[in-house]
Amino acid sequence: MIYLGDQIDALNAYSKEAVCWLGVKLKGRLTTSNSHGYSCGDSACYPCNHSNIRSKINQGFRDLFTDATIKELIEAKPHRLIEINNSLQTKFIAATGRTVKDFKANAKKLCLISGFTGWFSKDETVGEKWNYRLARLLDKHTCTYCNREYVFVYRNPSGSGKGMVPQFDHWFAKTDYPLLAISFYNLIPSCATCNTIKSSTDLNLTDHLHPYVDSNISSTYEFSYLPITNIDNRIILKNSSLFNSKGLDTVNALNLPLIYKGHSGKELQDLIDLRYKYSDNYLNILLEDTFGDLQISKEERYRLIFGIELDEENHHKRIFSKFKGDIISELLSIK
Ligand SMILES: [Zn+2]
Ligand SMILES: [Zn+2]
Repeated sequence: MIYLGDQIDALNAYSKEAVCWLGVKLKGRLTTSNSHGYSCGDSACYPCNHSNIRSKINQGFRDLFTDATIKELIEAKPHRLIEINNSLQTKFIAATGRTVKDFKANAKKLCLISGFTGWFSKDETVGEKWNYRLARLLDKHTCTYCNREYVFVYRNPSGSGKGMVPQFDHWFAKTDYPLLAISFYNLIPSCATCNTIKSSTDLNLTDHLHPYVDSNISSTYEFSYLPITNIDNRIILKNSSLFNSKGLDTVNALNLPLIYKGHSGKELQDLIDLRYKYSDNYLNILLEDTFGDLQISKEERYRLIFGIELDEENHHKRIFSKFKGDIISELLSIK
């Protein structure tokens, strides 16, 4: 899994529109006849000037949200998001006498159906759909969870609307936490496989690492292999530390062992063959001798020979960087 950083510029650009969109959906536009409506005051703001209130939302639910709450729901970090969700749910039940199910139903209508499925993934309010815009702003090139598929952003210039864009997984599952469906730090760019396999898997911040929280995410677990026979080796994942299993628990919850299974007989076997099959440690020869006396950095040698990035912060730029980097390092360390 890849650490995504704070992404402050992306957050600010996203929040500027998301906050207004949510404000208007909850309160309606601020007009002379709707003095309790929402407006950021910017005459160029699209949602504040064009969007409309979301109908069929319980008034008690609307009343939960102040301007500050709306902003926090979009911008808060994961730990705070869960607190906001739980406290609004408690307030809703106390104020309306309704149930958790009612709270979720209102949140689903607003944030998931109108918000994520509509505004974020389908509507082109100004310029481009938000899934494309956010993916461009985040500028990550492979799946956050598996690093085995590219997630490029390209659109067909013919204007047919079709293109390539990562899926956005909800780290806190959208079925359990529909209120967090358009919260910035809950939207994780991922490949279709990971998004589907993770589905509604219940992740929590006590037992699992989060790509917007844990900067050391990539070094908490390692790819390794289990030799069955000369020609049959299996990719396995293990903890980097004896004392903390959070990294391994996280990649297990994301089903990375299953997702990587098919690569045992391919990329893993290729690397093992380079180490053992051809000549004495051909892996080492490749890395040390390929470029002769040319001044080529270690990072560049790994990129040119194995097609991977060695530095953790660049792992996202090439598929298999973490997997191949770990395996190569293990093979090179074997005497
Ligand atoms: Zn606005
Ligand atoms: Zn993936």
